[in-house]
Amino acid sequence: MLVQVALPVPLHRVFDYRLPVGTQASPNTSPTWLPPIGSRVEVPFGRQRLIGIVVAHVRESDSTVSINKIKSIHNCLDAEPILDDRLLKLAHWLARYYHYPLGDVLAVLLPSLVRQGKPLDILITHWRILPHITDDDFHPNAKKQKQQFDMLKLHGERGASEDTLLLEGMQRPFLKTLEKKGLIEHHIQPKQAPAPVKLAKMPLDLNDEQQQAVTAILDAHEAQRYTGFLLNGITGSGKTEVYLQVMQAVLEAGKQVLILVPEIGLTPQTRARFASRFSAEIVLLHSGMNNTHRLQGWQNCRTGHAQIIIGTRSTVLYPFKDLGLIVVDEAHDGSYKQQDTLRYHAADVALYRGLQCNIPVVLGTATPSLEHLKLVDDGKLMELQLLTRPGNAKPASMQLIDARQQNTHQQTTDDGARYDTGLTDAMIGAIRQTLEAGDQVLVFLNRRGYAPVLLCEACGWQADCPRCDAHLTVHYNRQNSRQHRFNSYLKCHHCDWQAYIPTVCPDCGSQNLDAKGLGTTRLSENLHAIFANPQTSKELYPIIQIDRDTTRRKDSWESIYQRINQGSPAILVGTQMVAKGHHFPNVTLVCMPNADRGFLSADFRSPEHTAQLMIQVAGRAGRGDKAGRVLIQTLQPDNELLLKLVKDGYLSFARNLLQERKMMGLPPYSHAALIRCEGKTLAATMQALKDAIAIFPNAHKLAVLGPIDAPMSKKNSRYHAQLLLLAKERRQLHHVLQQWWQPALALPSTKYLKMTLDIDPVGW
Ligand code: ADP
Ligand code: ZN
Ligand code: ZN
Repeated sequence: MLVQVALPVPLHRVFDYRLPVGTQASPNTSPTWLPPIGSRVEVPFGRQRLIGIVVAHVRESDSTVSINKIKSIHNCLDAEPILDDRLLKLAHWLARYYHYPLGDVLAVLLPSLVRQGKPLDILITHWRILPHITDDDFHPNAKKQKQQFDMLKLHGERGASEDTLLLEGMQRPFLKTLEKKGLIEHHIQPKQAPAPVKLAKMPLDLNDEQQQAVTAILDAHEAQRYTGFLLNGITGSGKTEVYLQVMQAVLEAGKQVLILVPEIGLTPQTRARFASRFSAEIVLLHSGMNNTHRLQGWQNCRTGHAQIIIGTRSTVLYPFKDLGLIVVDEAHDGSYKQQDTLRYHAADVALYRGLQCNIPVVLGTATPSLEHLKLVDDGKLMELQLLTRPGNAKPASMQLIDARQQNTHQQTTDDGARYDTGLTDAMIGAIRQTLEAGDQVLVFLNRRGYAPVLLCEACGWQADCPRCDAHLTVHYNRQNSRQHRFNSYLKCHHCDWQAYIPTVCPDCGSQNLDAKGLGTTRLSENLHAIFANPQTSKELYPIIQIDRDTTRRKDSWESIYQRINQGSPAILVGTQMVAKGHHFPNVTLVCMPNADRGFLSADFRSPEHTAQLMIQVAGRAGRGDKAGRVLIQTLQPDNELLLKLVKDGYLSFARNLLQERKMMGLPPYSHAALIRCEGKTLAATMQALKDAIAIFPNAHKLAVLGPIDAPMSKKNSRYHAQLLLLAKERRQLHHVLQQWWQPALALPSTKYLKMTLDIDPVGW
């Protein structure tokens, strides 16, 4: 009997091993025990030892290795499978669909402590100090041991579970040492099953649209039937209330609920909305967790201890004991697509898992992606619409300001220099009116830092990143003065390269260097000069900047949120961070000084993404009782896309785009794979892709576009070229990739290059 093991190596195959020495059965008896499928084993691999997952038991090896050369498993790590049948099937599906090695897929699926072979019992191992032990039992020199002992002592007589102790900073070797010395002891204490979920607060009365949506989803739940739903509800239409009421039935049936959220929405408020409705075991999973937390979360999902699981993208790959519902909130969000290693899309994986478990999957959004609309057309998703906001709240009205006719407002500095604020008088007037009425204003600008470009007015030199095809962003870290250039620097937003701001132009020596364009810091400063300067404003209104720079610290977003929700008049200046599902009840005006730029971009997906962003940001207005207004300042008021969006709304706009894609044969009307090649020179990456094309199978039906240099071909001192494959049918694409991709990877010219494959790429 042989055991097939998937190992974390970049080879598209599994490996055969014999049973561990000693467990080998004699020729006429069958072995009594085999390491179970889905358990971890440690095996020799070349000169290394690797940990892999058992994926099959076989009688004969189908590899070409002679039977005598097959090595034995070194060590079996689990008596029981740690991955159930469903998760293994998921792994196989991911490997096939994304053409990614099974062993590497499993490595993505497992938390790192599990990959490293750590025992899974740390969550149920309970440590305590033996009753008769006191401080006197320590040698004065054993300081570190005493320190660890004191940490355990804080937990009193009962002690604590090992995972708690590890999170507090204790170390396993010390626990073992203290135990050996007879100072502490451990026992295994299985976690008690969680109490049944109880309702903590009464549900709201649903309006008709909400009721229809809840009924449809619950029908699928009760029939134990997979159905994918597109819950297409305008911002503020009460999608969360629909989730909550469906969840109630699913949780009461004793099943787990998985809620996927985009990264930034994963703030304590998200948890609070669910925690205030249900008293249940709620687990939050996100990228900021340490390894022990991750293992803890993984185990809690696997054992069924977690009842409501709220997590970002990778949570869709967790094991669940008994899943009853998956919700993908803001399903259009770009963060659901993994951009390296296994390039999966969490919404697609969620649909697969729903099918696997015979449960409903709800994709909720105000701005459905074109892919999801196409799935509705194809009958693969069932659309549920919420077209109104409950209660008095009205959707915000959108209005264009022509920035060509209205000059942007000029402001004068203390020393008399004039500068452009980037805001029209109409917009400034509306902001003042809103503040004076006691409301809040949100100004959206999707660019952080002070200014996107540093330009020499004399010769046209621009500060560029030496490592990327990109301009350096100007950052000034100072308040309210144009004079001090301390603490100022240039930074590349792609590779984080930093430099001092030169005082003279490196090319021509001119001192005439100017920061061009608007970033959130500069815009905040300009707004400050208008609305928080005693010389220009009666009242001084706070300007609250929300971007990656101001929310970097752990609790900063939390305190910003609190400041906003106190409700007094203020101006919020934010990047796309503010677009994601936040609730600012006092914001009644949303301003977009140049959000429409994306309609000019060359990327065919840009109009879709720009419109989604604009509608999501606009959706922050008027969510309380007061009506909202949205002002879009533009230099291209005749742009057809912009007019269509403002006049007819997102859905009609998106339908138009979909029609265009159909005519041009672009996704979702075709299926794409993007091959990227990265190396030290552009020539080498281009050559590798040409060589790969040369071994393309004959008589295929794909469109092969490229190789060309990637949109930002130089990044972090590496060069990128790419090749795009388009197929009418997904089958054709996979057929070619199955024959071609692995041989292409093995070509000599790719040896020192990085070649990757992206199925259903989001950008190219
Ligand atoms: P969405 O997620 O669709 O943007 P939310 O779920 O945040 O919208 O709901 C917006 C607001 O409407 C919330 O304050 C919510 O409490 C309220 N709401 C939702 N459904 C109802 C209802 N049926 N009756 C009254 N208020 C509701
Ligand atoms: Zn110059
Ligand atoms: Zn760079």
